[in-house]
Amino acid sequence: MTELHVHLDGSIRPGTVYELARRQGVDTGIPDLYRMPKKDAIDALSKKMTALPSGQDLNDYLECFRLPLAVLQEEDAIERAVTELGEDLLKDGVTTAEIRFAPLSCCTKGLAPKDVIRAAERGARTAMRLNPGLTLSLIICCMRGQEEQPFLESAREDLTGPEVNFRLVDLVAELKNDVVKAMDLAGAEALYPTEKYLPLFRYIREKGIPFTVHAGEADGARSVRAAIDAGVTRIGHGVRVIENRLLAQTLAVKKITLECCLLSNFQTRVFMNKEDHPIKQLFDMGVRVTLNTDNRTVSGTSMQKEIETAQRLFGFTDADIRKMQEYAEEALF
Ligand SMILES: [Zn+2]
Repeated sequence: MTELHVHLDGSIRPGTVYELARRQGVDTGIPDLYRMPKKDAIDALSKKMTALPSGQDLNDYLECFRLPLAVLQEEDAIERAVTELGEDLLKDGVTTAEIRFAPLSCCTKGLAPKDVIRAAERGARTAMRLNPGLTLSLIICCMRGQEEQPFLESAREDLTGPEVNFRLVDLVAELKNDVVKAMDLAGAEALYPTEKYLPLFRYIREKGIPFTVHAGEADGARSVRAAIDAGVTRIGHGVRVIENRLLAQTLAVKKITLECCLLSNFQTRVFMNKEDHPIKQLFDMGVRVTLNTDNRTVSGTSMQKEIETAQRLFGFTDADIRKMQEYAEEALF
């Protein structure tokens, strides 16, 4: 199988967070964690990093990423997390995946963005060497609002200011290869509208870097419109395009692929009821929808689970699932 949309930080193994937090002396907020039997400690960490099945807002969901990001501030930790995610993907039946992460979120304790990307690349290459048949590549995420982040004294590089995401584009243009392939824009979509980032997308295009964008998740159809205006071939989520059926038809005509993530959408309540999720409607309209996990640990999911959910709740047939897999293969960067 092919997976287009999976975040490194949201897919880290809880057992790895335990070991890294212990070694790095990270405060987990769980009293006496290291006096507990290891299994109980990992369970406690896992609980802190896993979202409820439904009924929380995006902020609670984002809180689940605090611990993973706290330990992903060292090169060997980043490398290890990517290699392990490669193994986990393969166990789940995924042989080709594009793993995404935001390097600047791994620079709060002094790492430089270049070191982060290189560490992730080493991790991906190790996973492929150890697991023949596995193909991994990396999507580098710009973060919405990064330009307004307070300056961090502990950071070696300037991680804020109006140019911050543009500098990341320059870096990706420099490091781009068969593993470091593309870019994305992630973060608080409702607070920082997609339109605001049109100059950034223009810059990414000028540099010849393929890109996707999280849109139509926390914000509505207008965000999807802005993504189309930016010249995307893929959109992360994009499901709220259903608010404007004409625009949804445009997606079908332009053959723009939606990276859908059902369980994640249920958890952040993109739609009030699970049954309201438009994935099947969009599929039937000819929109190229695909199934993805988004965050394997935070959402407690896998491709197997996403497929099972799509079939059970929305009546996708085995042939439909195969069709969505074809869409995913064709949309790879
Ligand atoms: Zn995502």
